[in-house]
Amino acid sequence: MTRVQRLRGSVQDYAWGKPSSSNPLVKRIYDSQCEASSLPPSNLEKYAEIWLGTHPNGPSTLIDSNTTLKSYLTPSNDLPYLLKILSISKVLSIQSHPDSALAAQLHASNPSVYKTPCHKPEMAIALTPFSAMLGFRTLSSLYSNLQLYPEIKDIVGSKSWKDLRECYENTAGMDFDTRTIVSVSNFFTNYMSNYDKDSLGSSVCSKIISRINSKIDKTSLDDLLLKFHSQFPEDCGVLSPIFLNVLNLKPGESLYVPPNTPHAYISGEIIECMARSDNVIRCGLTGKFKDVEVLCGSLDYEGFEPRRERGVEGEGERIYRPAVQDFEVRTSTLTSDHTFPSVPSPVIFLCLEGSCKVVWDGGEVGVKFGESLFIEEGTVIEVKVEEEVGFVRAMRNVGGG
Ligand SMILES: [Zn+2]
Repeated sequence: MTRVQRLRGSVQDYAWGKPSSSNPLVKRIYDSQCEASSLPPSNLEKYAEIWLGTHPNGPSTLIDSNTTLKSYLTPSNDLPYLLKILSISKVLSIQSHPDSALAAQLHASNPSVYKTPCHKPEMAIALTPFSAMLGFRTLSSLYSNLQLYPEIKDIVGSKSWKDLRECYENTAGMDFDTRTIVSVSNFFTNYMSNYDKDSLGSSVCSKIISRINSKIDKTSLDDLLLKFHSQFPEDCGVLSPIFLNVLNLKPGESLYVPPNTPHAYISGEIIECMARSDNVIRCGLTGKFKDVEVLCGSLDYEGFEPRRERGVEGEGERIYRPAVQDFEVRTSTLTSDHTFPSVPSPVIFLCLEGSCKVVWDGGEVGVKFGESLFIEEGTVIEVKVEEEVGFVRAMRNVGGG
């Protein structure tokens, strides 16, 4: 067996993906991998995700032996991570992923919804301008937004509304103390539980939307509410940017999604890496089942300003390393040849630009845009640049963090 093998991923055509007519990145990558496998190009209407890894819903194939990567690996050396590229044209559902303890508990009590007993940390790195929502806003940001959309009081009730105002006044909007966390938790739980009662939420939402429509100077938050309303008119998630942080990332910037943190990707093309797990608690902007009780009981309500991480510069690479063991991601753009030392993890390599030759002790393989490789743990590779080459490598977190 050779230490480096060519890989073909699986494509997903979810409704939020980019249309084929826009020639999205996911389509271009997947078609390049089809071509490397002597298969015809794909013919889907939407291209949402390409998956590289051993997830059963989208297994990758070793091109030269035409076997799945999963069957090649033993259970003890299976990949703990899944590498994806996403092409997003429509907002994804708002969701959170349980921490390990909650995931185990949910899986035990409801295995048909919570399919694995594992946590699902995830990281996104922007390849184009990328927008996302992540975590609850700070108290001052939340409070000032509520002043702009006071109709929400009719959904949450006057007690909740008053509680939150008192927290703001008592702490001058600065401090996320225990009382504030309880108050935001009650506020959000009332919002989620009352929204669908007798269409209360959607009628309040309609009022807000028509008021925004009549404004001459709309804010970026107004525009986002209009956009969500056009995509999911009846959904409780339309008003979510009022509560949740909205981030705009530039190419190369990344965000990490901690457990129990509500988030949704809004638009752009990204690299995503995650632990190989399926546990999603849905919160809004979806037609799928919403487990409101589990959701509201599990979220981290402490507001924060999310950090846009740019990774750490290494030798010929930029390292994006989260605070979990399951994975890290490294990106490289090379104009001259470079040797990468071995790492104590199997690696998935994906070329995102240009072309190169990957050389190891025992062989070499040409790689161009869109093509992917599986590299055995402990393999030194030399990348010989043919034209300026950009690529991403996913691996287990080898930094001990
Ligand atoms: Zn997620």
